[in-house]
Amino acid sequence: MTSRSSELVARAQKRIPGGVNSPVRAFRNVGGELFFVARGEGARIWDVDGNEYIDYVGSWGAAILGHAPKVVVEAVRDAAIRGLSFGIPNPLEVEMAELICEWMPSIDKVRMVNSGTEATMSCIRLARAFTGRDKIIKFDGCYHGHADPLLVKTGSGALTHGRPSSAGVPRAFADLTISLPFNNADLVRKTFQKNKNGIAAVILEAIPANAGLYFPRENFLSALREECTTNGALLIFDEVITGFRVARGGAQEIYGVKPDLTALGKIIGGGLPVGAFGGRAEIMDQLSPDGPVYQAGTLSGNPLALAAGLTQLRELARINGWKLLEEIGAQFEEFAQAAIKDATLNITFHRLGSLFCLFFAEGPIVDLAGAQRSDLKMFARFFQGCLKRGIYFAPSQFETGFISTAHTPEDIERTGAAMREALGEL
Ligand SMILES: *Cc1c(COP(=O)(O)O)cnc(C)c1O
Repeated sequence: MTSRSSELVARAQKRIPGGVNSPVRAFRNVGGELFFVARGEGARIWDVDGNEYIDYVGSWGAAILGHAPKVVVEAVRDAAIRGLSFGIPNPLEVEMAELICEWMPSIDKVRMVNSGTEATMSCIRLARAFTGRDKIIKFDGCYHGHADPLLVKTGSGALTHGRPSSAGVPRAFADLTISLPFNNADLVRKTFQKNKNGIAAVILEAIPANAGLYFPRENFLSALREECTTNGALLIFDEVITGFRVARGGAQEIYGVKPDLTALGKIIGGGLPVGAFGGRAEIMDQLSPDGPVYQAGTLSGNPLALAAGLTQLRELARINGWKLLEEIGAQFEEFAQAAIKDATLNITFHRLGSLFCLFFAEGPIVDLAGAQRSDLKMFARFFQGCLKRGIYFAPSQFETGFISTAHTPEDIERTGAAMREALGEL
């Protein structure tokens, strides 16, 4: 019997490269066939064959209130009736800019874009123009979208599919990007010494969440801040995942380090395509039309996208979502740790608030090399074991799990039981 999903997979394979519009959605490394989603509500999704799953991908973090939250859907509907797009400034752009600057005090001015990729790409261009330098430092396993300067030893789908540095990026571009192991401040210092007056910026995920999930060592971020300031380079935090999720003010609030520029995305669009980048006024003022750095977008600041994003962020604040996410996350951790303990396998569990990752490797894991020690075959079997029990985790060891405010204690308990059984089968 062919399922509707397999029928769609066959058609998609013919007309869409790899059958997917973003490689992270493919099931290549976990085996089995991917499914097509029909709808979602709260923490649950249903595929086109009617199977139900508790979802821990949540549109890669965008769905922090769960799927189709009523307030957000209504805000989009209301906005849509008034017009889908104008290419003329609309009031929501001012409201969003004010909210972002209030919640992230390192940001004086902000531009809206349509994706996280556009946000980081624009940060790099701006940093190069502001400093008059060409080279950038990034970190192995940190993913910053798919713009040329950042596709060097990257994480996420590129890592999952075994090509962390992309074909098609000219050698001359890649040579301007220096990728270093995360959590090694000494190497950053040495790299600055070797490239005197050559480094425009250091860009990183302050909490790397695209090669699994691991954390900055104590003082790593403040060491980066100091090196950048001393050497006249800009510090760029890519908070496309962490911004407004790990705390109201993102990772920069938790660690108390102030970047010069910040890239945002995912949850600020409430499920619609949005990104943003912002920072110190004197840097942002380099942008056209005030300054010489060109950056633009036909749909940037789109009223539907901003209605969705603003409503989602305000709702998160109204219900004190961060406290709630920590509570649900703590409950998840309790179940996960108990299941792991009984399974007597080499597993490292990481969590921060609503972000989590199970590495099939012994800890400590503090960088990409550590994450890559994971047993990928074992992860694949675990993934399938959970999937057949109605739990949808990201189909890769090198992704992070996302909990939403819609995950109920019962959902978490069911997930814990499924994880226990799936681990028991390994
Ligand atoms: C998802 C992601 C991006 C890219 O955002 P897109 O909207 O997919 O272009 C950039 N940085 C980080 C940290 C991300 O997780």
